[in-house]
Amino acid sequence: MPLHIHTPLIESRPLSRTAGRPVWLKLEALQPCGSFKLRGVGHACEIHQGRGARHFVSSSGGNAGLAVAYAGRKLGLPVTVVVPETTTERAKELLRQEDASVVVHGSSWQEANAHAQTLLGPNDAFIHPFDDPLLWAGHASMIDEVAAAGVKPDAVVLSVGGGGLLSGVVEGLQRNGWHDVPVLAVETEGAASLHAAIEAGHTVELPGIQSVATSLGAKRVAEQALACCRTHTVHSHLVSDREALDACERLLLDQRLLVEPACGAALALLQHPEVLAPYANVLVIVCGGATATLEQIRAWREQLA
Ligand SMILES: *Cc1c(COP(=O)(O)O)cnc(C)c1O
Repeated sequence: MPLHIHTPLIESRPLSRTAGRPVWLKLEALQPCGSFKLRGVGHACEIHQGRGARHFVSSSGGNAGLAVAYAGRKLGLPVTVVVPETTTERAKELLRQEDASVVVHGSSWQEANAHAQTLLGPNDAFIHPFDDPLLWAGHASMIDEVAAAGVKPDAVVLSVGGGGLLSGVVEGLQRNGWHDVPVLAVETEGAASLHAAIEAGHTVELPGIQSVATSLGAKRVAEQALACCRTHTVHSHLVSDREALDACERLLLDQRLLVEPACGAALALLQHPEVLAPYANVLVIVCGGATATLEQIRAWREQLA
């Protein structure tokens, strides 16, 4: 039994009407720790345990750290998550709920991550948030489920942070023989590390992240994410923070699901009929995000207004 669940695949009537074509939603927001991350992280943790790991270490105060904490608890292994001082109380609370040891270190993710590396003993496994083939293989299972349901989309819409989700979905499309199904890869304008890499022809480090979609805030994408754009049809799209937040509120009304702006970014593409025009139907990966609160989403919207 894998650690993740088989998620529902639903055709959303309200979003189909908005987009002017059938819209299928893969509801990864319903994974027990709130995001798709559990697919890849759960797979990686099980493999590492099989190879003798006795302790997992993460440096993500977001959904990747939560997935490691959940996986460790389920596998009966201790988890340490090192997070920077900027991590919200809510995120730390969610990590502690999963029985993880939370170590607060440094003023940025770089410092927390550097400290996490110093903690690694011989029987410890460090679980990366997006740059690991074990993660991509695990994420690919969401496409296996869509294929098993007999639904073949004309395009897959997803969000990109460091590109682990993109790499996994492309792996899933290819291993199901769906080489002809393009991916529409969405980032917010202030977190556009894949867009920058495609423009430059090589991965680049953004000077900073300026977006409310904190889970998309990888300054540089994995090399594999850019490689996917060469072996598969991937179209890069940008949306504003405002559009991502609006899409979160709309999903809450339409489907009664609360997701992070990182997920709202992908959903926001449904408001762009010109982008969707070539596709008879689309599949959106509703990647989720456990740190979302309605208060935070409304506060961000007011800041932007
Ligand atoms: C991690 C995450 C993303 C981005 O995934 P990457 O693999 O980093 O591209 C998007 N949305 C949510 C909710 C996430 O947790």
